[in-house]
Amino acid sequence: MGRLQKILIPFLGLVLAFWFYSARENFKPEMLKGKRVIVTGASTGIGEQIAYHLARMGSHILITARTEAKLQKVVERCLELGAASARYVSGTMEDMAFAEHVVKEAETSLGGLDMLILNHVGTSYFGYFNGDVGHVRKLLEINFLSYVAMTASALPMLKESEGSIVVVSSMAGKVGFPFTVPYSATKFALDGFFSSLRQEFSIQRINVSITLCILGFIDTENAVRAAADLLLVSPAPREECALEILRAGALRRRELYYRYGSTRIPLLLRDWAADLLDYLVRSRYRLDSLRRS
Ligand code: NDP
Repeated sequence: MGRLQKILIPFLGLVLAFWFYSARENFKPEMLKGKRVIVTGASTGIGEQIAYHLARMGSHILITARTEAKLQKVVERCLELGAASARYVSGTMEDMAFAEHVVKEAETSLGGLDMLILNHVGTSYFGYFNGDVGHVRKLLEINFLSYVAMTASALPMLKESEGSIVVVSSMAGKVGFPFTVPYSATKFALDGFFSSLRQEFSIQRINVSITLCILGFIDTENAVRAAADLLLVSPAPREECALEILRAGALRRRELYYRYGSTRIPLLLRDWAADLLDYLVRSRYRLDSLRRS
């Protein structure tokens, strides 16, 4: 026991020190000053907060979502906060031509791209899988295929700038979550696609970073409306979450876990005690609430 403590405690100290200093201390907001950034799903929620942080850092911002009136307001606020420039394109990510058009807009209006932040998410239901295959297909188009289409279109610009792709995913994309089956499937697909692409970039020496963001429950209006009554955990703040996403992207991290304690730590069980992890995930839900709804 004594010997174990002598080895284990300094080792854990080293790991923690490495994590703390490498992830937090090196980031400076100036890293994103003047950078040309696309943020999808930026009319509300985490995407909106990402846009405001980028504005304060002095980036050129191109945001997109469907609701034009909301996008207009976000752009106005970005300009007030100090964005080098801010503009929007509205449309739906169900349409791959629109996804490609957004990237084209960055080329024509910004003259290139340094960071592509893929964050939008289509509406799904919260409940047992209802067998609706059409819904799964539609959600895959919005949450997955449009991410692929935008990445493919943006790659020439990102290669030139040696830029970054930031993909906003979820704990539900790393471990099976009940009641969000179609959503979870789309998030798992993102991990498969972008983790494989990262491998190819490494082999081909393509200097474009890919950061996969694994988020727990965040206090955005839509998420709280859909899940607050059913989940026994309290949501983390979206402003902080947005900043952590930018930090991880700027530092070219391969993955971000936010919040760390409720995402990375439980996932350590996945390979060795998968049933226990499944049980812990299930125990986060108020099943009575679901039966009543
Ligand atoms: P919100 O629901 O608040 O925002 C979603 C954004 O996507 C909005 O801007 C919405 O705008 C846009 N959007 C929705 N449908 C479409 C569409 N068909 N085409 C184009 N844009 C669309 O989401 P959050 O901020 O909560 O989540 C952001 C990301 O974080 C998502 O990828 C989500 O999966 C992930 N995440 C969130 C968690 C949470 O608890 N909040 C937990 C884990 C992961 P509009 O309606 O105007 O089109």
